[in-house]
Amino acid sequence: MRVGFGYDIHRLVEGQPLWLGGIEIPHDRGLLGHSDGDAAAHSVADALLGAAGLGDIGVNFPNDDPRYRGVSGVNLLAETAARIRARGFRPVQVDLTLVAEGPKLAPHREAMITAISGALGLARDAIAIKARTNEGLDAIGRGEAIAAYAVVLIERRNPPSE
Ligand code: MG
Repeated sequence: MRVGFGYDIHRLVEGQPLWLGGIEIPHDRGLLGHSDGDAAAHSVADALLGAAGLGDIGVNFPNDDPRYRGVSGVNLLAETAARIRARGFRPVQVDLTLVAEGPKLAPHREAMITAISGALGLARDAIAIKARTNEGLDAIGRGEAIAAYAVVLIERRNPPSE
């Protein structure tokens, strides 16, 4: 077993769709980024890559590579899962905390779990998503950004018999 941790934050700006946890959520603003700005997916991907000793998103999916321009959160997660599987690991569990002053994320929790479980090939009950506010504090509390913190567990697919 190995553990990984990931963090991401993106600015909320007007004129962008809001993609978070692999789904589009109705809101008057969206997350800015080279990709779709899906901070939840990015934090999980970073946690998985870290656990597998594969570096981070920046190394694996460079900003300046046109293949990853506008890449969706679920596609990034699916590609990340493929890379850690190629290293002999598989995802076991995801525990994700989202910090947003708005919109309310709890009503979208089940859809996000569906998207992430599909992308990672992981059972729904192995994925937890908690949504909280920042109590009005700092940039997140002013509704200028959404942040995500992820912890994941991965295991070797074929443990040595020894
Ligand atoms: Mg990001």
